[in-house]
Amino acid sequence: MRIDLLSVKPFEICSIRPPTENYSLTFRLTRNCYWNKCWFCPVYKFGARYSKRGIEEVKEDIRRAKLIDNILSEQGIGNNTYSYAGYSRVSELVERIKSANRDADNRDECDKEEISEDLDPGLVWFLPWFKDKATLEDSFNHILSWRMEGGKTCFMGDADSLILKPDFITEAIDQIKINFPSIQRFTVYGRTRSAARLRTLEDLKAYRKAGLNRVHFGIESGSDAVLKLVNKGVTRDEHIEGGIKTREAGLSCSVYVMPGLGGVKWWQEHAYDTADVLTRISPDYIRLRSLQVFPQTPLDEAMHNGEFAEASEEQVVREIRIIVEEIDADTEIMSDSATNLLNINGRLPDDRVAMLREIDQYLALSKRDKLLFSLESRVSSFAGQYGGLTRDISNALGPFIKKGGLDFSGISDTDIDDVIRLIRSKLMP
Ligand code: SF4
Repeated sequence: MRIDLLSVKPFEICSIRPPTENYSLTFRLTRNCYWNKCWFCPVYKFGARYSKRGIEEVKEDIRRAKLIDNILSEQGIGNNTYSYAGYSRVSELVERIKSANRDADNRDECDKEEISEDLDPGLVWFLPWFKDKATLEDSFNHILSWRMEGGKTCFMGDADSLILKPDFITEAIDQIKINFPSIQRFTVYGRTRSAARLRTLEDLKAYRKAGLNRVHFGIESGSDAVLKLVNKGVTRDEHIEGGIKTREAGLSCSVYVMPGLGGVKWWQEHAYDTADVLTRISPDYIRLRSLQVFPQTPLDEAMHNGEFAEASEEQVVREIRIIVEEIDADTEIMSDSATNLLNINGRLPDDRVAMLREIDQYLALSKRDKLLFSLESRVSSFAGQYGGLTRDISNALGPFIKKGGLDFSGISDTDIDDVIRLIRSKLMP
């Protein structure tokens, strides 16, 4: 096929999405988060503003994505099989397109997103996840990874697609299905408040009828005190109402909870109330995301001015223990995030005993062994999730790298704390 290089344009993708949507095709129905006030939340900041997109704009993105998909298909790149070679062929293609745009003096397709100089250096690491501008590289690589994973899933962002009327979602899904008929699962992020207050049960059923399969809710806590403390903008009753309504509409309900969010002061209330809300919603999936305090967030400020005291790793594990023990529902717990110290996964109620046993094994360790466990586990889960260690983490581990691997026998407790802190400072929520 002869490609009209100047007709190939980037489309906007959702860089923030659930881990199960890492290889999904994504479309932005809205941009960023209209609430954007949760104290712990680092995403959609740095000047990114909320906006609703018109359906024609979304359709144009679908058209652009389809053109890229057609090009890859005709070139035989990424046809359902994983291969590194696909990425280098995509790089060559993108280079050809950019070069044609440079020749045509079309700066828009050649420019990269600017990095603000005011950013905390600790935040620069997170920038690839916080991109706001569509680029050709990202668009091609996005379609490529979706194709290589079989092309079956689609995520429609950004932070709360439930604010969109059913007609809008229906039209978007219809267009996506027409252009990408292999897609079998459609998912969105939503706020429970929107499901509870903004949408009727009929609206939610209309989403389901349109083809939406699952809503991912960040509920974080079931405690009103904690929700208020972190300015979540939603109550536990709204969590419950929104979650139940979503399930009643036939949509799969996946919720994120944040052990540690109550800090030292509210930890017990946070754990017990969260277990209670989860019991009432009985979601299909509960995903654990242990709190990481990000630089330049209001929670970071609250920590520095003494308003919030961070929970220890052991205390966070105790909170998870309460949640696992107290939930009385048929649901699945998942630890699909490097933010968690322990990998607690299983179905409730069947796997409760096994999950508690794993937690108790950690809690029974001596103080020193807990630290060593944490260090080893943080190193390996970071490398697993991010495909290796960063230079600064490797440097910090340098003195302990021996022939047979890592040897922490001579490491001091302070050094362990420092390395753990460094690794945790790089974990995405
Ligand atoms: S609603 Fe979600 S995306 Fe928006 S500020 Fe809160 S945590 Fe962040």
